[in-house]
Amino acid sequence: MSNPPHVIIIGAGSTGSATAHDLALRGLSVTVVERGEIASGTTGRNHCLLHSGGRYCVNDKEGAIECIEENLILRRIMPHALEMNDGLFVALDDEDYAFQEDFLAGCEECHIPAREIPVKQALEIEPFLNPKIKAAVQVPDGVFEPWRFCTSFLATAKKNGATIRNFTEVSDLVFQGSAVAGIQVFDHRTGKTETIGADMVVNATGSWAGIIAEMAHVNVPVAPTAGVMVTIGTRLNNMVINRMHKPHDGDIVVPVRNTSIIGTTSWRVTSPDAIEIPQDQIDKMMHAGELLIPSIKAGRQRGVMAVARPLIASANVDARDFSRTFEAFNHRKQGGAAGIITISGGKTTTARGMAEKVSDVVCAELGISVECKTKTTPLVSYRDFYN
Ligand SMILES: Cc1cc2nc3c(=O)[nH]c(=O)nc-3n(C[C@H](O)[C@H](O)[C@H](O)COP(=O)(O)OP(=O)(O)OC[C@H]3O[C@@H](n4cnc5c(N)ncnc54)[C@H](O)[C@@H]3O)c2cc1C
Repeated sequence: MSNPPHVIIIGAGSTGSATAHDLALRGLSVTVVERGEIASGTTGRNHCLLHSGGRYCVNDKEGAIECIEENLILRRIMPHALEMNDGLFVALDDEDYAFQEDFLAGCEECHIPAREIPVKQALEIEPFLNPKIKAAVQVPDGVFEPWRFCTSFLATAKKNGATIRNFTEVSDLVFQGSAVAGIQVFDHRTGKTETIGADMVVNATGSWAGIIAEMAHVNVPVAPTAGVMVTIGTRLNNMVINRMHKPHDGDIVVPVRNTSIIGTTSWRVTSPDAIEIPQDQIDKMMHAGELLIPSIKAGRQRGVMAVARPLIASANVDARDFSRTFEAFNHRKQGGAAGIITISGGKTTTARGMAEKVSDVVCAELGISVECKTKTTPLVSYRDFYN
């Protein structure tokens, strides 16, 4: 083993970036390899919602608690990468209104600060909101900027000695006996193939995790689950607007810089690299968005995007109902190869918590006992990524 031990992280989305920071802060030697640009996977194309947990507090309490805990931590450690504009859950019809009781009880149970505000006040804050809403509840949702989110973690990791290599794709794993001992990469800038040795490899490739796992002859139950989002080229809301009911298609509009993003749908895909966007899903988004903010109808569609969530599959459960929680898979303990750990599931909002979990497993495997300090360590600015 090298001293300090060398850990390679595959993937520079939110999970890999946060893991690089955690392990570098614990004093390990870290190299991140990313096949494309930073955040070019799922992280760079999502709603950018810093979840309060409100969306999951009735049906997925574990996921909801993780969200609110991490939301509050990120507000402290990376305020420069966040817009802390809060969110509203609004009831549009009698069914939504009836859901409010369960919603408020769920928020309380998951420790999500929620307060009902008068409809008149909600409409003053959000003049484009459907004036027919029956109730509104305010929660600490927010908005992150994905590039800044990742580069804040990576800039801090670099400051602590990490090496970040983008446009460097893992084409195979290197073995010593039956254990993973490094990676083979193709550098898209130089056109060269090389091998890099490691004491441990972290598979943080999100929806692509199954492909890397296959190279290690192990299995991970990752179920790439796609969602469509439509971006309106005008910012129509100040806060995140959610519909107050069980998560469903097209029930959220997130203000991101000068746009509003409507999301989303959910369906299983076989490859995260080949997601078709059906026109009927776009129409569905527009229709559902208009119910929340009627002037969406007159808005210009600036773009449509679809990416896959790296959710953990459960047997006999519909993709929409897969839990948003996360898991670190120690393949050695599951009877597979040593030297590689996969981290999957979760959300960008919970990236720091995911990093803590997988870094604990990495350190235990390497026989190192160092405490995680990422909850209280402020990140340097994303601007330092270039220094
Ligand atoms: C429609 C939709 C909306 C969402 N909205 C939100 C939201 O509003 N808020 C929120 O918190 N979460 C949201 N999520 C969830 C969130 O986007 C994901 O959980 C998160 O981005 C996953 O991050 P990751 O780092 O694990 O994966 P990724 O961001 O996909 O990163 C994995 C990286 O691995 C790289 N990679 C793959 N193969 C290789 C290889 N062979 N060699 C090197 N690199 C490789 C990829 O290029 C990629 O950059 C949403 C998800 C979807 C699908």
